Amino acid sequence: MENISNMSLLSCLVEQTASSIPVVNPANGQTLGFVATHDKLAIENKIQKAKTAQKSWAKTTAKQRADIMQRWYQLLMDNQEDLARIMTLEQGKPLAESRGEVAYGASFLQWFAEEGKRAYGETIPTPLADRRIMTIRQPVGVAAAITPWNFPIAMITRKAAPALAAGCSFVVKPAVQTPLSAYAVAELARQAGLPDDLLVVVTTEDAVMVGELFCQSPDIQKISFTGSTNVGRILMRQSAETVKRVSMELGGNAPFVVFDDADIDLAVKGAIASKFRNAGQTCVCANRFYVHDAVYDEFAEKFAKAVSELKIGDGLEDGVSIGPLIDDKAKEKTQRLLQDAVNEGATIAVGGKALEGQFFEPTILTNVSHTNSIVQEEIFGPIAPLIRFSDEASLIEMANDTIYGLASYFYSKDINRIFRVAEALDYGMVGVNEGVISTEVAPFGGVKQSGIGREGASQGLDEYLNTKYICLGGM
Ligand code: ADP
Repeated sequence: MENISNMSLLSCLVEQTASSIPVVNPANGQTLGFVATHDKLAIENKIQKAKTAQKSWAKTTAKQRADIMQRWYQLLMDNQEDLARIMTLEQGKPLAESRGEVAYGASFLQWFAEEGKRAYGETIPTPLADRRIMTIRQPVGVAAAITPWNFPIAMITRKAAPALAAGCSFVVKPAVQTPLSAYAVAELARQAGLPDDLLVVVTTEDAVMVGELFCQSPDIQKISFTGSTNVGRILMRQSAETVKRVSMELGGNAPFVVFDDADIDLAVKGAIASKFRNAGQTCVCANRFYVHDAVYDEFAEKFAKAVSELKIGDGLEDGVSIGPLIDDKAKEKTQRLLQDAVNEGATIAVGGKALEGQFFEPTILTNVSHTNSIVQEEIFGPIAPLIRFSDEASLIEMANDTIYGLASYFYSKDINRIFRVAEALDYGMVGVNEGVISTEVAPFGGVKQSGIGREGASQGLDEYLNTKYICLGGM
């Protein structure tokens, strides 16, 4: 593969066989290589090995684990350029975004290396004189993850880092579209000195089989999933059988609100970053824009100008900020949502065309109403629908009128309004005067049907720990 200096990162590539999985560049449809396919028996064997490896790993100290994770962090940063190229080749996002994701993905390794040292228990004042009460926190065991293609590294490290820091082993099935990044990160873990079988990558096109296997396996104590709400529901249902702990990072329908007292230029900048990052393919992407009547025309005009300047193309090319959509299915969905919106009365202010291959013009729609289908569905593509509003109370109602509750954004300079609105939004995350809010130090996650659990921050570690209460009697 062109210009990858650390070829060991691609040691996952195998010969083409009837069962191996092709990895395709979404920018040009070319096959980049093939990775192995693992059948059910192979995955079961790997889970058994991960189970054995976890027992020794849990006996190491948090500091010993941290030392390996810090080396792993450094290796990701040392190989940032190669990892970014691999990511852009298989996922399509612009190289600058891929570099950013490598650093963001690596930050979880550094953060949880330290956070693992703070898995504190408690000593609790006793109500009975002859007893002493304490808690300790222990790794849940083998943790399994199913991850999506939109953040091929970060969605793995955000789960693997707390799992490994807590003393768990970790088995992951990356999305079939982006296995190279997953294997590259695992190779760097090996180079950092992570013992065998603690970070296991399995690849297959049979996601349903893996989902069932992970959920039903009595040897896996925890499932962490990032992906669509629909698949999250399936995994939760399947996990009921073994009463497994679950973390779910599911779909979103983020409102992006521009109040009449907003800094419009700042709002435009945030709107571009929030909406068009990764060509609109993130679960925290602004999905619907509510703009106050008094500033609607100004915002729409400035936003349209900024969007018309975005360069579309192969993410490896200089200056490109909109890469291809991940596959034909994604392009068809974007096209369908756009057509429905136009049929329901929306006007295309800029963009609106599907281009050759898997490219789609960044698009702004005006004259959209809150009840339009494009406002109700997660778009996951580069379309920004603009809706007018005139009062705060009805705005809050519209913003909360969804089954989702992941990210939300609003722009205002009024401190009273900032607190009032931030508290009234039924979302796990609120960006105020900021369009990109993810960081390893803050808890990422949703409410309502956007998920369960938090990733990053101190809360991220809790997801991989059990609390054990120890009662000392007869004192
Ligand atoms: P997206 O629309 O982002 O691809 P999905 O929820 O379909 O979201 O996919 C996210 C991850 O879930 C991918 O790794 C995919 O292979 C996996 N997946 C899809 N369907 C299932 C299923 N029925 N059981 C388990 N995993 C699944």
